[in-house]
Amino acid sequence: MNNGVVGNLINELSKLPGIGRKTAQRLSFFIMGMPEEEAMSIANAIIEIKKKARFCRICFNITEEEVCSICRDPRRNRDTICVVEEPSNLIVIENTKIYNGLYHVLLGALSPIDGITPERLKINELVERVKQGGISEVIIATNPNTKGETTAQYLSQALKPAGIKISRIAYGLPIGGDIEFADEVTLSKSIEGRKEL
Ligand SMILES: [Zn+2]
Repeated sequence: MNNGVVGNLINELSKLPGIGRKTAQRLSFFIMGMPEEEAMSIANAIIEIKKKARFCRICFNITEEEVCSICRDPRRNRDTICVVEEPSNLIVIENTKIYNGLYHVLLGALSPIDGITPERLKINELVERVKQGGISEVIIATNPNTKGETTAQYLSQALKPAGIKISRIAYGLPIGGDIEFADEVTLSKSIEGRKEL
């Protein structure tokens, strides 16, 4: 059944990461059986996120305002920036409640083979933020895999002239993994036990 409205929904859902054709079929039939308001509310949530969500002008976190709630929060430690690859990584670090500084989201990790060069990421924006002053430490929390390590090394070189403390989370994280899948205790320890680069 690949034609018509059902086939169309299956095709669209298959575009999502982690959703294979079988899952897309199952979800499509599930949606078909849902009350109309519930299905509409899913559709509207997708429309709303595309209309309203954008990246913070300062840190590239997801926000509905020009500047995100973390950058605007006067209770945050404004002299520390934690660098992550994706907005979802920021959420897992926030969930540990151990970190109270600011963030910088790179929107990816370096991977020259895939054409992801420094210019494609928000690296210049980070260097500019640090140059503006008031930052005493940058914590690099890119993923503990090849791309994340390459990115961390590049960042530490790029930030070196600023003469600030540069550290890397490390302790206990599974090598080759993604901080998104680390449990909160492990992640907390890896932030606490960060190593100066
Ligand atoms: Zn922000």
